[in-house]
Amino acid sequence: MKAVRWHARGDVRVEEVEDAPPPGLGQVRVDVEWCGICGTDLEEYQDGPVVIAVDPHPLTGFNAPLIIGHEVSGRISDVGPGVEGLAPGQLVALDGFITCGECRACNRHAVNLCDRWAHIGMSYPGGLAERMTVPALMALPATRPVASDALALAEPFSVAVRAIRRSRLRLGERVTIVGGGTIGLAVLQVARAAGAGDVTLIEPMPFRRQRAMALGAAAVVESCDDVILGSGAGDQADIVIDCTGSSSTPHQATGMVRPGGRVVLVGLPVEPGKIDYLNLVLREVELIGSAGHVYDEDFRAAVDLICSERVDAASLITHRTTLDHAVTDGIALLAEGDCSETLKILISPG
Ligand SMILES: [Zn+2]
Ligand SMILES: [Zn+2]
Repeated sequence: MKAVRWHARGDVRVEEVEDAPPPGLGQVRVDVEWCGICGTDLEEYQDGPVVIAVDPHPLTGFNAPLIIGHEVSGRISDVGPGVEGLAPGQLVALDGFITCGECRACNRHAVNLCDRWAHIGMSYPGGLAERMTVPALMALPATRPVASDALALAEPFSVAVRAIRRSRLRLGERVTIVGGGTIGLAVLQVARAAGAGDVTLIEPMPFRRQRAMALGAAAVVESCDDVILGSGAGDQADIVIDCTGSSSTPHQATGMVRPGGRVVLVGLPVEPGKIDYLNLVLREVELIGSAGHVYDEDFRAAVDLICSERVDAASLITHRTTLDHAVTDGIALLAEGDCSETLKILISPG
């Protein structure tokens, strides 16, 4: 079958690979319909290896060259022995975590914190391919008829669901989001669906600010500095959610939240940064991490939000192309092209 594999930094190839195997015990095989390209795929291309396995992964045994892609929707084609509740033809989204089931985190059902977690597209063959064979637990069926392209956004939306869960959002609370990429705009929609009051988005790119207003943001602001200087909008939020992955914005986020407020970090800052600890202590600001998603909590909720149209996942799709062009019109475009009007690029086997 055709697939896109990561070989090394700057070396991602569309190539012919061995077909996804027939499903074994507790597995299903899925015909991929759509797979999104994520910021982490871009990071592996430009600066990797970051998370992608270059040595055999302790849980899965897979390593590069490896099929990338982890934002997948598809149709079940084959069901392995011992699988209940899934049937060929069913439209599903794939939660990408594969976990050990044995460690303390797994025993507490905090599977996103597993000691040995693996993930499709990073340490297990991913979704930029014609087919995948995965644990059946990972395949969450659409809860109502839905377009398969929108369903491919379930993974980023599940990250947003977890962030809102971690924020302990209460009805009517004011939320400020830092960063208006796919995750930031998904957090905006999930916050509103969860009953947030005014939501403000901070984002330098005009296209993304416009999209945020169309999706119901009460206000948009160009930079954190504008908020800290007291422009009004976004200031004194009950909750600030940082989706940038920058190591400088968490400090600014803790400055703009109200006393006693919560700051949730969703982006992945790879560099350490500075925080004003005195500000955390004297204003009782809580700093909270939010990592990935749990399949039967966050991911299931994301699938349902999309299927019930309480969020508009398709509004985040700006480009679609085929596997043949996944590098030239996908990953390389994100790396080198003008991305001022790009949010989610989706790839189909074509
Ligand atoms: Zn992703
Ligand atoms: Zn575990």
